[in-house]
Amino acid sequence: EEVLLKVSGLTKHYPIKKGIFTRQVGAVKAVDNVSFSVKRGETLGIVGESGCGKSTTARLVIRLLKETAGSIRFEGRELTALSAGELRTVRRDMQMIFQDPYASLNPRWTVERTLLEPMLVYGIGSKGEQRDRVQELLTHVGLNPSYAKRYPHEFSGGQRQRIGIARALVLHPKLIIADEPVSALDISIQAQVINLLQDLQEQYRLTYLFISHDLSVVRHISDRVAVMYLGQIVELAETEKLFATPLHPYTEALMSAVPDVQGAKKERIILRGDVPSPANPPAGCAFHTRCPRCMDICKTEAPPLKEAAPGQLAACHLYA
Ligand code: SF4
Ligand code: MG
Repeated sequence: EEVLLKVSGLTKHYPIKKGIFTRQVGAVKAVDNVSFSVKRGETLGIVGESGCGKSTTARLVIRLLKETAGSIRFEGRELTALSAGELRTVRRDMQMIFQDPYASLNPRWTVERTLLEPMLVYGIGSKGEQRDRVQELLTHVGLNPSYAKRYPHEFSGGQRQRIGIARALVLHPKLIIADEPVSALDISIQAQVINLLQDLQEQYRLTYLFISHDLSVVRHISDRVAVMYLGQIVELAETEKLFATPLHPYTEALMSAVPDVQGAKKERIILRGDVPSPANPPAGCAFHTRCPRCMDICKTEAPPLKEAAPGQLAACHLYA
């Protein structure tokens, strides 16, 4: 399978400055040496608690943020080296779906205006073709084409997210980055939107980078899943392997909080303490302050992310 997106050593540090000469005294390590790849047509889920760096990773990939270090290759092209003009062309192929569709839609624009905008910006199609495309998109996302003349406030949350999805599809993108796309929706609506994303993926052979704090949502949609903690990927595996046999103690703890499909009782692993500040992450394994299986080596040496079982990477000294 062809790799569409390859991220290597991606890092985003925010300098912490102090004093009148704004001397840099440290850095918030929002994303720290993250590597993964996504194959064409695949869905890679990124899961973790808020503040773990998953949204920052998404924003770095789509170039809303500039990295401190690392490489992002999209269809073999190095994105971090592109000029603004070159980036504009690539950005057509990468679109984002946001958590809050209401905040990301212009309240003064009709749905039609919102969906026309990308075509106007890139100068695509005649007036007639543009209008046809709007009608077609609304149908594809399960909305009545007659809604084109309505405004965002006239829609429910689920309908607004369908408009957000339609907008992401206007230019026939290859990669869609979805950042918590259903977290703001009622549970009953979440499944509908996830199913829509899956149908569209099949229809258009889309590739998804799907970010969520919700393990069950990620499990449902992802082919593979990366688990993040304090700016780093701690485990990366095929979805079924990750859920059947989580290897990293942090993944294990996350999973223990989710009731399993059979409703079987699992022993809930309660982690001690809070997530440390990314401005001052623990030495060695960043999880060692909370890990129930911490060993001496964990306090001084950072474990590399490497194959711990077939098809399953973990950053943990238990698998050295
Ligand atoms: Fe726990 Fe050590 Fe593994 Fe870190 S490296 S997750 S502290 S066992
Ligand atoms: Mg899939």
